[in-house]
Amino acid sequence: MEKTESNQEVSEVATELPALTAADRCDVCGAQAFIRVVLASGDLVFCGHHGSANKDKLKPIAISWQDETDKLS
Ligand SMILES: [Zn+2]
Repeated sequence: MEKTESNQEVSEVATELPALTAADRCDVCGAQAFIRVVLASGDLVFCGHHGSANKDKLKPIAISWQDETDKLS
């Protein structure tokens, strides 16, 4: 008897987040935001500096961490 692999559907839940724009401003200092943090309570956006400053605190509780700091270069 052949064993058929159970055809499990791999549904990748890629939450497609819109790219950050120049209109997105850091919640702390108002500089252009390059990091979006999606929390259960809502979104936060940070500049590169404040994103990394809050990373330790927020990353563990973030639903999604969108880092676009590579755009900075
Ligand atoms: Zn900032």
